[in-house]
Amino acid sequence: MNQLKEFSAELPGQDLKFLGSTPYVYHCHHFNLFHDQTVEDALGEEEGFLIRSRAAQSAVWQLLSDLVAKAGASTPAERLQLAAAVFPWMGQGRLELLAGAEGGNVRGDHLHYSFAWREKYGARVRRRFPVDAFAAGFAAAATEVAFSLPPGALASREQSCFACRQPACGFELGRQDVPSQAEPVNREVFLRHIRQPSEGLEEGRIAEIATGLNEFLLGVDGDERGLVQGFGIFITRHLPGYYDQTAYDTIHHIEKHAPQATPAVEELFGESGHVCAFYTIGNILLSPEWEAMVGTLRGDVEEIVTSSVAITRALGFGHWTVDELEPDRRLVMRSSSNYESPFYFERYGLSEKPRCYFFANASRAIMQLAHRVDWASRPELTEDLYLSLFKADLKWRVEETRCCSKGDDVCEVVVTKG
Ligand SMILES: [Zn+2]
Repeated sequence: MNQLKEFSAELPGQDLKFLGSTPYVYHCHHFNLFHDQTVEDALGEEEGFLIRSRAAQSAVWQLLSDLVAKAGASTPAERLQLAAAVFPWMGQGRLELLAGAEGGNVRGDHLHYSFAWREKYGARVRRRFPVDAFAAGFAAAATEVAFSLPPGALASREQSCFACRQPACGFELGRQDVPSQAEPVNREVFLRHIRQPSEGLEEGRIAEIATGLNEFLLGVDGDERGLVQGFGIFITRHLPGYYDQTAYDTIHHIEKHAPQATPAVEELFGESGHVCAFYTIGNILLSPEWEAMVGTLRGDVEEIVTSSVAITRALGFGHWTVDELEPDRRLVMRSSSNYESPFYFERYGLSEKPRCYFFANASRAIMQLAHRVDWASRPELTEDLYLSLFKADLKWRVEETRCCSKGDDVCEVVVTKG
């Protein structure tokens, strides 16, 4: 939708992307399913779904309220039409938004989460609990914004789900009274919390690749299903507000109620960084588009690390830099901006410990990819290869040595051979 392209903007030098005032990033279905599964494993199916759908509802309410104001959409019909266009622009599938101010039904087809879940796990696992918490929250927020209701005025339940082998997904919306007054974590907030961008090693090469890839991504559109398929993965334009709130709410819940389990849950959210690096960065590196744009992969450590960082910038993860790189020994990465610490600091205040689980572990995974994958042989990135690289054979340790969430001037991670 052209109007959405007009609302899409970058923050120069910081490698962040916004739709209207709301930040967005690209993430693939492997990452998305893993992230949601982590919330579910930590909190259980019911509570996990609730936390996810509420986070989606809150983030999408902010996004759509801002967009309808910018687009001058004043009637419920215009607002629902805009929301129904945003959903496939995000690569989330199709929603038929039929509910009114008192609630009603919403139908979903080819929803990113359930469709991708069936593709990835459907042949092996039988699922009984629905997976489309993001779509549930989106449907509620879209209806709230259409009828000028406050966030949290509607509850949304997924009653049938494609992941549970039902033909389509169905949601029921009804009135509730759970106000959610959280302030938006938008462009202004990011501008307040990010630091002056610095230059790292190979800045010229990284910036040039990031610019080319970024232009390519901007031109990528959803198909008639509302899904975005490319590089062998399903891609979404997704909201950091969703990832951050679900991850931090889950971790805070564990810190409070089962503190001994905190390191394990933090490790799992960190593992989503391994999943992203392996599937998204890996598949982009091995794609024909990469070869046409950058050239044939040689596969040496410096090339893979700098290329991976260029990809993270194009995906909107922030201004990550390579500050030290000693093959076989050590990597130091910094980020003047990323999508974790601004959210943490704004929502929860000063942290006692570093909070960029994704940035830290994606950096570790980049070192593993650079050292342990034979890129020249163009391997297929299968789940077996993932397990052997990241479960059986991960020799790198990572520590976030500085973090803006705890008041430092930059986020910095150090990856060393362990
Ligand atoms: Zn940090």
